[in-house]
Amino acid sequence: MNKLALNELDVKGKRVLMRVDFNVPVKAGVVGDDTRIVAALPSIQHVLDQGGSLVLMSHCGRPKGEKNMEFTLKPAVDRLAELVDANVTLAPDVIGDEVHSLVEALQPGEILVLENVRFYKEEEGKGCTEEEQETFAKTLASYGDVYVSDAFGTAHRAHASMAVITKYMDTCAAGFLLEKEIAYLGKVLEAPAQPFVAIIGGAKISGKIDVIVNLMDKCQTILIGGGMAYTFYAAQGLQIGDSLLEADKVELAREILHQAKEKGVNLLLPVDHIVADAFSAEAQTKEIEGEIEAGWMALDIGPKTAALYSEAVATAKTVVWNGPMGCFEMAPFANGTNSVCAAVAASDSVSIIGGGDSVAAVKAAGVADQMSHVSTGGGASLEFMEGKQLPGIVALTDA
Ligand code: AMP
Repeated sequence: MNKLALNELDVKGKRVLMRVDFNVPVKAGVVGDDTRIVAALPSIQHVLDQGGSLVLMSHCGRPKGEKNMEFTLKPAVDRLAELVDANVTLAPDVIGDEVHSLVEALQPGEILVLENVRFYKEEEGKGCTEEEQETFAKTLASYGDVYVSDAFGTAHRAHASMAVITKYMDTCAAGFLLEKEIAYLGKVLEAPAQPFVAIIGGAKISGKIDVIVNLMDKCQTILIGGGMAYTFYAAQGLQIGDSLLEADKVELAREILHQAKEKGVNLLLPVDHIVADAFSAEAQTKEIEGEIEAGWMALDIGPKTAALYSEAVATAKTVVWNGPMGCFEMAPFANGTNSVCAAVAASDSVSIIGGGDSVAAVKAAGVADQMSHVSTGGGASLEFMEGKQLPGIVALTDA
């Protein structure tokens, strides 16, 4: 198998089978945030411009291997049709005679989108035999002359349309979005411009531990925010009141603090906090420094921490941000996250935003276009940052 870049493929007159990630939020039949569809457009448009036709595959939501039309790709297809100047058809299914006929009838410049590939349990490979998954992948492979993957958001899944299908295609290529994600995230891991500052937040240490450990060898400063900060506090014997605590991770937090010291990494914890007397937007709040007394929980970093973190970001050449600084979904606890947002947007660094919540925060603050790269993959970017090999990328190189 040849692993190519999309612009190395000759797609004129060919049927290009492309895995995209149209797993977008849908409300009342309408796409809420079309970022992932827009992100796939350069690859889609390139194939059309070069005289190829497209069979697009994607999943959406969790239909759990059943044809549940609650998870139809129709809203995504409707949005795609508004964004491209081409004939776009949604197939009634993923496999079967009718789909086969639609594929055969496809003309250059046209797009056929298969229904949600997760309507079949073979896609995820759960509750079916390996042989059944192979047969499913082989059927999908029969729809195209060449295969292109542009689904970075799903690249951490070893699913049929991502990781099995490539065995049955002679020519596979990475789409422009996949290439871009790999280029940005890969550079961070291989040769980040220094000073490199990582901002890690969110609810729990357990979700980000591998990222912290992996980045510790590459960056100078790690800024910790969000609920996870309080397990680090507890590890130092500090009072945290009713703040979030992962009791079984206290030892791990202590070990990370120790490692950071050994490696000369500047690992910063919040010096002040917005504390509340309940986990609620209506709770009583106050600003405090240092330890947190009983009856109060820290739900955001305080202004001194926000200023300290912003200062660290201001001189950075590379910034990676994953996870909010507080419960930013509730207005009284959004300031810390918003301050970090503004600081990253204002810095001259190569800024990479990964993870669903940080991306949502950056978009809500209206500064997404001031970031160098806003990843389309939450779980995928996290696993990439952990230094893991993503099956959807590996499959493009291993035949
Ligand atoms: P994660 O999925 O681990 O990135 O966590 C994101 C979630 O962490 C968001 O829903 C935030 O509301 C939540 N979060 C952030 N800071 C805190 C905090 N100090 N206490 C509790 N939850 C928090």
